[in-house]
Amino acid sequence: MTVLTVDSASPVVLAEGDRLAVDGLVLAVRVSPRRKRFALTVELDAEVTLHVPQGRPAADAADFVRAHRSWLVGKQALRERTRPLNPAKRLVEGEVFRYLGRTYRLTVEADRPDDGTVRLVAGRLVLSGAQVAEPARGRAALIAWYHRVGRDWAGGRIQPWAARMGVAEPMVDVSDLGGRWGSYLPPKDAESIGRMSLGWPLFQLPMHLVDYVIAHELAHVRVSGHGTEFWRLLGRALPEYEERRTELDELGRRMWMGDIA
Ligand SMILES: [Zn+2]
Repeated sequence: MTVLTVDSASPVVLAEGDRLAVDGLVLAVRVSPRRKRFALTVELDAEVTLHVPQGRPAADAADFVRAHRSWLVGKQALRERTRPLNPAKRLVEGEVFRYLGRTYRLTVEADRPDDGTVRLVAGRLVLSGAQVAEPARGRAALIAWYHRVGRDWAGGRIQPWAARMGVAEPMVDVSDLGGRWGSYLPPKDAESIGRMSLGWPLFQLPMHLVDYVIAHELAHVRVSGHGTEFWRLLGRALPEYEERRTELDELGRRMWMGDIA
């Protein structure tokens, strides 16, 4: 793979698979016979692809890139800021886990019987030697712990928020929602009530961000979708919701989602 550096007089014609360097940016080149114009896309990993019509000289491409440089730099910075960073954890003495924004270190007790659970003792999360030797079991025990403490904590938190927002209190469960923090399922009929689900990784975050997700899902009890009326309702209960949402995006991508190294 060649990296082409061009000046404006360069007659070199771009080929599929080339890499083009322009003013410190390196772009992957894709050539398409059907394409009429140059185009730029920023991939999820912040790599930039330059789409090129067939037979166009590198100099024209470089001019195009220069003309769109500030757009590109902005896009790349945005991707970089929002890229998921979710770290993998190691099941070793001293590894850090979070609960409601506080840190708890892992302690391994070699001879503790493995009953499938994690205990919180004096600010430390205790796993048995067997749970560490078989990381799938340690992982399952940790995630089950988040489910349990999360459900207990959220159980006492929903009612005051629901009262404040004037909405019916839904059932609540903690589950694995993939990458989502929360969801709300409306009642099937007039006799049943809605169900709020909170993802277990949510409980790593500080309380005010868990509250944001709870208030957000409670707003869905009255308003589905994210239209003006939704944000107005949420804003009345939580005037600083925009800051919290931004903070959730920032901090959320650093949380552990269950990967073991
Ligand atoms: Zn929503």
